[in-house]
Amino acid sequence: MKTLTLLVLVVPLISNSIEIPTQVIANFEVPYEVWDNLYQFLEEASITLPPTPVFIYETNSLYEFGLITGKPYTIGGVYKDFMIILQPVDILIRKGVFIKVLTHELLHWVLFGLKEEYQEGLIYWWLKDYEKDEVDKFLDVFDGDLHKFIVSNWEQ
Ligand SMILES: [Zn+2]
Repeated sequence: MKTLTLLVLVVPLISNSIEIPTQVIANFEVPYEVWDNLYQFLEEASITLPPTPVFIYETNSLYEFGLITGKPYTIGGVYKDFMIILQPVDILIRKGVFIKVLTHELLHWVLFGLKEEYQEGLIYWWLKDYEKDEVDKFLDVFDGDLHKFIVSNWEQ
């Protein structure tokens, strides 16, 4: 009985302790795991969130996604100029890629000033998508210090 009461008290405290950045504006609810990933990355990289807001738009259909992005349906989301366009969330969830796709696109935002040529590789590497070709290119120049790498390859 005591344990149960404690859980009831502790669980809301944990979820309240996750800080939702005000500069992320989405037309759906961003899951807790995505914030968790994002803050973990910021901590590992010793960087802070960009001051410029990012807008996340969940499209209503694959047709609309294709129309807006011009990308094939194998691409779950697109980041460009502080805007993220996503396939319908229920489709991404069914494919089992929702958390990963959204984290991936938000990392493009976080790394907005990083040289374009390293962005994809760094993000794939951090999300453990090691099979991607871009990861090799990134690892060729990465010495293991994430903060130093980001700062020294920052363009803006
Ligand atoms: Zn990407």
